[in-house]
Amino acid sequence: MKTILITGSSSGIGLGIAREFAKTKQYNLVLNGLEANGPQIAADLAKEFGIKTIFSPANMLKPAELRDMVKTAVDTFGSVDVLVNNAGIQHVSPIEDFPDEKWDAIIGINLTSAFHLSKAVWPGMKAKKFGRIINIASAHGLVASEFKSAYVASKHGIVGFTKTLALEGAPYGITCNAICPGYVKTPLVEKQIADQAKAHQLSESEVISKVMLYKQAVKEFVSVESLGQLALFLASEQANTLTGASIPVDGGWNAQ
Ligand code: NAD
Repeated sequence: MKTILITGSSSGIGLGIAREFAKTKQYNLVLNGLEANGPQIAADLAKEFGIKTIFSPANMLKPAELRDMVKTAVDTFGSVDVLVNNAGIQHVSPIEDFPDEKWDAIIGINLTSAFHLSKAVWPGMKAKKFGRIINIASAHGLVASEFKSAYVASKHGIVGFTKTLALEGAPYGITCNAICPGYVKTPLVEKQIADQAKAHQLSESEVISKVMLYKQAVKEFVSVESLGQLALFLASEQANTLTGASIPVDGGWNAQ
């Protein structure tokens, strides 16, 4: 059994990835997030798939809590073999009104937490000569949109961080890749539909067709299952030479 730790996995994409790994019955799962029902979600997954899970409410903005979460995972399961840096937040606003504290929170949660967690799992992965770090970036790691300065900066940052860890991890069997989804209908996007409507002065259905899916050639939201399946491949032994990549799953948005 290998062990996977997925941040922000009591909701949306993280939970979708957790379910795909749980289905294989080949991983112990360390779940994390701020949702109050996180422990219940972890217990339900353990029951449904007959696997072992634990839940940590570690806050991405508190490095000591992140280190403790990794320690608890290693104490419980022996190692962290796969780390998925997924927790993330968004804020949509023109630059001149962009709240300073939102900038700090977005950089802290979307980017800096991945540094602290990767650093914490690194010695264990190095010793085992195996490790997989998967960063959930975004199509906005590769291209920008207006009104998302902090988010775009954080996601471009994680794409650069991914490349660096790929180089540093290569001698030790550690790979690092980023997945760059287009729009996935999760609570994060539901909230954004309302915010975008305000920023662009459009109705919510116009935001979906004119702002969100407008940029994708495939006019469908990306499914969490497809992201989970890609993460499963990146975590596999077969993906040992796939490293440093930022893979768009964005309905062709970045092909333009
Ligand atoms: P979501 O809001 O459904 O889930 C985010 C998760 O992160 C939640 O579990 C939340 O509790 C957790 N989280 C937030 N702040 C935290 C903190 N301080 N400490 C610990 N956990 C915290 O959002 P999602 O859409 O599933 O987003 C997951 C990731 O995917 C994010 O990094 C996001 O930027 C990225 N992404 C989302 C989309 C999309 O369209 N939904 C597209 C591209 C990339």
